[in-house]
Amino acid sequence: MEAAKAVPAEVAGAPFLSMASRQARAKNPAELKSIQTRLSSTAAKWGRGKPTNMKPLVCIFAHPDDEAFGPGGTIAKEARRRPVYIICATEGEAGKHKGKKTQTDLGKIRAMELQRSTKILGVKKVFSLGFKDGALSNNLYHKLATKIEKILTKIKPDTILTYEPHGISGHIDHIIIAMVSNFVFRRLPFIKTLMQYCVLDSKSRREIAKNYFIYVPPAYKKSQIDLVVNTRAVWDTKVKAMMQHQSQIHDIERILKMSAHLPKKENFLVVSR
Ligand SMILES: [Zn+2]
Repeated sequence: MEAAKAVPAEVAGAPFLSMASRQARAKNPAELKSIQTRLSSTAAKWGRGKPTNMKPLVCIFAHPDDEAFGPGGTIAKEARRRPVYIICATEGEAGKHKGKKTQTDLGKIRAMELQRSTKILGVKKVFSLGFKDGALSNNLYHKLATKIEKILTKIKPDTILTYEPHGISGHIDHIIIAMVSNFVFRRLPFIKTLMQYCVLDSKSRREIAKNYFIYVPPAYKKSQIDLVVNTRAVWDTKVKAMMQHQSQIHDIERILKMSAHLPKKENFLVVSR
C-alpha cells in the first residue's frame, strides 16, 4: 500500500459525523434544534425544486448496475435539475452471466448496458476507471483515490454520492469505493455533502440475505437514516434503467421481487461540513 496522503489541516478537524449520529449526541435542546433545522433544510433541497444553477452531483460506484439497482430514483430526480456524473471503477466483467462469454466480452456488454441505463436516468457522462472487477483492495486504495480526485477536481461537484460504509450487500468492491469516497471527501473542501446510499431493514431483505452467496451486513433502522428521498414519481424510470442491465437479469428479478412491497423511497446517511 502506498503511503497515506495527508488530509488538509482545515478539513482534518471538521465534524464528519452523519446528521443522525449528531442528533443522537446533541448535548442540549438548542443543539438538537439546530441539527434538526439543518437536517430538514437538506431534506427540502434534495431531490426537489426547479432547475437552478446547482453545482454538479458525482456518483461513485464499483460496477455497472449499482447506479440503477441502488439510488437510481434519486439520480433520475437530481439529473432533472443539475448535471449528474457517474464514476464507475470497473466494467463488471466478473459478474454472473449465462452462456460462454469471456470476461472481456462481459465487460464490454456491461459497459454498454451502463451507458444505456445512465442515459435513461439523465446522467451527463460516465467515467470508467478500468479497474479489475472483484479486485478492488487496499493495494489500489490510493490509485483509486487519485483517479477519482482528478475527475472531481475537474467537475467541482458540491455533492458526491456512494454506498454506505458496509457497501449495502457487503461486496468488498463496494466497501472499498465507500471508504475511498470518504477519503476523497475529506481531502476536497469544495465538496460540501457526502450522500451514502443505504437500505432499510425489512423482512424480505433478511430472507434474501440468508441465502446470499456472501455475508450481507445488517440494513439500517429508520432512526439511523438522515434523508429519505421519495422516488415514486421516477419509479418507472428506475425500472427502465434497471432493465438495461440484461446480462444481470437474475439480479433484476431478485431486486424487483424484494422491492415490490416496499415504499418507493431511497435512504441516505448524510455527512456534511
Ligand atoms: Zn456492485
